[in-house]
Amino acid sequence: MEACVLKDWRIKCLVPDLPELDEVAPFIRRMDTARWYSNFGPLVSEFEQAMAGMLAKTSALPADSLSVASFSSATTALELLFRAAGLKEGARILTPALTFAATASSIRITGHTPVLCDVDTHTWDLTPAIARALLKTHQFDAVLPVAIYGFPVDMDAWAAFQAETGVRVFVDAAAALGQQAVHPDVPVCFSLHATKPFGIGEGGILVTGDAELAGHARRLSNFAFIDGTSREIGTNAKLAEVLAAYGLAQIGRFDAVQTRRREVLDQYLARLGAGRFHPRINDFVPGTLLYDTGDRAQAAVARLNGAGIQTRQWYFPPLRDHAAFAGIEILSAGGTGAMPVVDRLQTGLVGLPFHAFLSGADIDEIAEGLEAVLGA
Ligand SMILES: *Cc1c(COP(=O)(O)O)cnc(C)c1O
Repeated sequence: MEACVLKDWRIKCLVPDLPELDEVAPFIRRMDTARWYSNFGPLVSEFEQAMAGMLAKTSALPADSLSVASFSSATTALELLFRAAGLKEGARILTPALTFAATASSIRITGHTPVLCDVDTHTWDLTPAIARALLKTHQFDAVLPVAIYGFPVDMDAWAAFQAETGVRVFVDAAAALGQQAVHPDVPVCFSLHATKPFGIGEGGILVTGDAELAGHARRLSNFAFIDGTSREIGTNAKLAEVLAAYGLAQIGRFDAVQTRRREVLDQYLARLGAGRFHPRINDFVPGTLLYDTGDRAQAAVARLNGAGIQTRQWYFPPLRDHAAFAGIEILSAGGTGAMPVVDRLQTGLVGLPFHAFLSGADIDEIAEGLEAVLGA
């Protein structure tokens, strides 16, 4: 909870796992030698290519089938994706009611209209089935599903939805790098923020099979310059060379990062069982670890916080209840604007500490706190 951010927690929710000085130094030295610090320098180019290779490999695609464009954050990546995609002004973009504020703000700040819907009770995200059902009674121009808590969306199913309906699909997979498969036809954005699984400090990438789309978004991140003049309104949202140095070092250790996250998750599962975690907890390692207390979220938070254990209730309250999104349209089959699944999850989900530096004793203590509230 934001009010608790300043407290010095004994067991923190998120602790970044970034490369340390010695691992980054060889790349920074190259930057020193080149005296090139921004504007699509050699480290940024190498990082984008290495990322494209890594993502193509894990998605079983040819290495040259993907374009990766880097940005100052996932938020600016999403914004410039929407700018570059050539959507009509004010386009209605369907996105889940359960997500981070940047998902909807990136739609609105680029002049489009976010419309929300409830999520699937099993996957906690906006699925192609939900979008298909809503399309029968509502109109929207594009869909922005979210890889909720870092659990991947079904990319092939979304690509099929897009091909069948003609409704364009973009994916916010900010917290899912390393877990989310990519698809050349469905542009996807990942965050490189320090607290995400692949952290470099601040940064984001757009991944797409459409080299022209990636190039357009990249150009917008540099004042939309072509030959030194702006032909449209751009901004400055580039990734600096020093952060690409972190990115290259992080690629080199990312297998180990993921292995450690898997170990920590397995310790949780051995201690608490899988039943109250996300239904796909045995298949993927999430970005943030939510535990479903049924309707005892407040009691669990009080108990854990009281013991010096930090919790976070991502992403509550839902966007509907943020002043910035007051009155936002919520699509539902019955037209009532109800979102019973999100409302139910709000009373149940608690974000637990989940990072590389948790010990077995920490996890035991967290589990004991939960058992005290829920009964073992
Ligand atoms: C973290 C996050 C973002 C924002 O990423 P930044 O790189 O911090 O801009 C957007 N969407 C979701 C779902 C996120 O989890």
